[in-house]
Parts: sequence; C-alpha cells; structure tokens
Amino acid sequence: MRCKICGAKLAKENADICLNCYKAYQEEEDLKKDIEEKLIVKRRYKISYVLLKYFELIFILTLATLGCIVSGSIVSAILCAIIAVIVMLIILALNKMIARNTKVILYTKKATYTSKNIFFSTNKTVKYSDLKDITVFQTYRQKRAGFGDICFYAKGSIPGATLLNGFQIKDVENVNSVMQQILEVIGLEENKK
Ligand SMILES: [Zn+2]
Repeated sequence: MRCKICGAKLAKENADICLNCYKAYQEEEDLKKDIEEKLIVKRRYKISYVLLKYFELIFILTLATLGCIVSGSIVSAILCAIIAVIVMLIILALNKMIARNTKVILYTKKATYTSKNIFFSTNKTVKYSDLKDITVFQTYRQKRAGFGDICFYAKGSIPGATLLNGFQIKDVENVNSVMQQILEVIGLEENKK
C-alpha cells in the first residue's frame, strides 16, 4: 500500500495515508479550528497623517494654484483650485478605502492578513511556528506621527527583500505599543530581548 497523498510506501497495511501526510493534515485541521481572535491590527486612516505623507504633492498643488492666481486669470485660478481639491479628495478616499479593508488578525496559533482594494485582494496566513521575525519599519514622517509598517517574516523569506511567505501591514498607529501586544500574543517577547 502507498500513501494516497504523497505516494510514500506505508508501514502499516491498514492505513490510507502516511504519518507525514497525517501530521500535515492534523496541523491544518488544528489551524482551521483556531478561530479565537486575540488581536486585530488595522491599517489606520488619519487625515492629518495622509496630509503629512503627501506633503510635497500638496505643496506643489498649492504653488500651482497660487501661480494661477498671480498670473491673473480668475478662470484658470478657479480651475487650478478645483483640480487641486479633487486630487486631494481622491488621495484621501483611496487611503481611507485601503485602510478600511486591510487588517491582520492574530489567533492563538496563526496570523492572517487580508487586504482588498479595487485592483486586487490578498489573503495570507502564517503559523507562528513558521514565523522568523517581526519588525517595524518607520519613515521619518511615520515616526513623527507614531505610525509604522509591521513586517511578518516567515521562515524562508529574506528580511528587506520580498516577503515570500510573510506579509506587511502598513500605517499602523501607535506602532510600538501594537508591536508589544503582537509579541505578547505570539509569545515572542523573550526571544526579542
Ligand atoms: Zn504521504
């Protein structure tokens, strides 16, 4: 008899699948049963932060509008202002939509990442036993606002490179305290220090 899943030779005659496949199956079943939400980490939408993030763009739009006003034509000045406002409203709306649909849920044994926007949707699950590291990335502006991106690296993925099996949630508010909560749920806090 051979294993129905991987084809390995079976030691016992009365079995359908081998021990390895049985373990993998058990593990998967355990993960499916793991539905108690311990912590939800959300991408935060905060207007003041989005405005800070797009500071250069806002600056350019304002300059362009001022330029139109100085150049004297009222019609083009109004047009410039309208375009500037529309661009900013689109940016805010997109950021709001992405933030609303992006979250990480931490369960007892696994973490799931879901993100949806108009173009694509992502669903990823990582077992804590497969986690290699969790790190926070902050740009200067994120630091000032207390925001940060949290990266979950699974084993086999290279920090700094593409997140092979892990995921990243961007723009988490109060990122340092959220990070502490994450480490407590996962039970990595001793390893980190
Ligand atoms: Zn097998």
